[in-house]
Amino acid sequence: MKQTRNIAIFIPHLGCPFRCCFCQQQKISSAWHPPSLAQVKQDIETALLTIPPECEVEVAFFGGTFTSIPEKMQNDYLECVQPYLDQGQINGIRLSTRPDAIDMKRLEELKHRGVTTIELGVQSLDEEVLKLSQRGYQPDQVIRSCQMIHAAGIKLGIQLMIGLPGDNLQKDLETTRQSIALAPAMVRIYPTLVIAGTQLEEAFRAGNYVPLSLKEAVNITAAIYLLFTQAHIPVIRMGLHPSEELQDSDTVVAGPFHPAFGELVLQKVALDRARCLLDMYLLQNISRQSITLYCPPREYSQLVGAKRSNIITLQKDYGLGSLAVKPETSLPPGSLGVGCGPGLEKILSREQYLQTLSIYESADIL
Ligand code: SF4
Repeated sequence: MKQTRNIAIFIPHLGCPFRCCFCQQQKISSAWHPPSLAQVKQDIETALLTIPPECEVEVAFFGGTFTSIPEKMQNDYLECVQPYLDQGQINGIRLSTRPDAIDMKRLEELKHRGVTTIELGVQSLDEEVLKLSQRGYQPDQVIRSCQMIHAAGIKLGIQLMIGLPGDNLQKDLETTRQSIALAPAMVRIYPTLVIAGTQLEEAFRAGNYVPLSLKEAVNITAAIYLLFTQAHIPVIRMGLHPSEELQDSDTVVAGPFHPAFGELVLQKVALDRARCLLDMYLLQNISRQSITLYCPPREYSQLVGAKRSNIITLQKDYGLGSLAVKPETSLPPGSLGVGCGPGLEKILSREQYLQTLSIYESADIL
């Protein structure tokens, strides 16, 4: 499969009908003004110098409500990408927008001008969460928008948030179930952060909003990630990109920020997968003196965990004398092996693991 790359062009808050209570795009993206057309061209050319030619490339307008900016400005931005499309240097245009900011006529025009992917800021499909977060649309609007994007022949991406006002685990799982039914081609999951200068900061300081802890956010995101994975829908990002601005100590007032949030989620998924395999393997009265786990080389650090946290946890929970982890090139992605002698004895494939899960019924996610 071809690798995909986005050349991100940030248009902070451009076209947004109002500021959503949690959002501060300038601080999230470190971009303070929408770029000029000359700047867009320069950014594309600079990025193209570093992207390997075999990659699938999209120019991506993020950080605003693209389809609500004045039509002439939309077209100017799209036209300045056109030469790179015509010369085959990029393969398409991606943009992010709100579910209540599209109609069929505009979608057809966007497709005609080279738009290949639209990422919808859905955030939640729960009516109360949308209302308390003042998003300004209802769940049925999201469903209609997704249907229109499919009908226009444009690839659909969905962005979801967890930990918004009024949200809880059950609502997140239900939003995930409904999102899967909308058949997106990709998903991003963002835990809500309290960012300086937002309405959410005021609510937090007044004691009216309690953010998720990092542990809760990781556990909920891991459950959502597994549900999308079961449905063969790629999760392409978990947690905000840790821009310099976001890592400034004054920017995130509270909430589950971690510069490598997605990695923490994958470590949690790897830990649970190892538990599943050990539960099956140790049923066979195997000596617990010396166990070795085997994983694909690229998944080694996820299985070991930060500061060997997964190894320490497994060793303690299963009363293991020693627990080693070895990279094994013959294992396909997402699989895991185990043995207590010189070689690998039992394998848990990604598919077998996903089949064991009953996340919607799971009471101990948190
Ligand atoms: S969440 Fe989206 S629509 Fe709301 S202010 Fe931020 S960029 Fe604009």
